[in-house]
Amino acid sequence: LSDRADCIFCKIVAGEIPSTEVASSEFSHAFRDLNPVAPVHVLVVPKAHVRDATELGDDHGATLADMLQLARSIATSEGIIDGGYRLVFNVGDDAGNSVPHLHMHVLGGRVMAWPPG
Ligand code: 5GP
Ligand code: ZN
Repeated sequence: LSDRADCIFCKIVAGEIPSTEVASSEFSHAFRDLNPVAPVHVLVVPKAHVRDATELGDDHGATLADMLQLARSIATSEGIIDGGYRLVFNVGDDAGNSVPHLHMHVLGGRVMAWPPG
């Protein structure tokens, strides 16, 4: 509970911390990353607090589908749906996860290397 009270993405969802909103849906909110690493870099987060992808369970199906549908809608509105884009969940320290509220990166607008660094 205290985890959630201090959560910056919960505060962004609540409008208590400013962000540049891109889109929102029933279960999700999307806003521009503060430090973009691609011409399009949007974060899609569930409105309800979930720590990370390892915490997802059977009851999160609708939330995940909603996040992916919002990502597709953003890819369309941002003009990257045809060129392609990358969806990323960082989980844990080795992946560099820095904010403990589930978020999906929507990255596009340039060619991206695979495998990632
Ligand atoms: P992670 O490394 O955890 O997968 O990604 C966290 C992302 O959140 C980073 O790309 C970082 O730039 C972004 N971020 C961190 N704090 C804020 C913030 O207060 N506002 C916005 N818009 N993005 C943030
Ligand atoms: Zn949160």
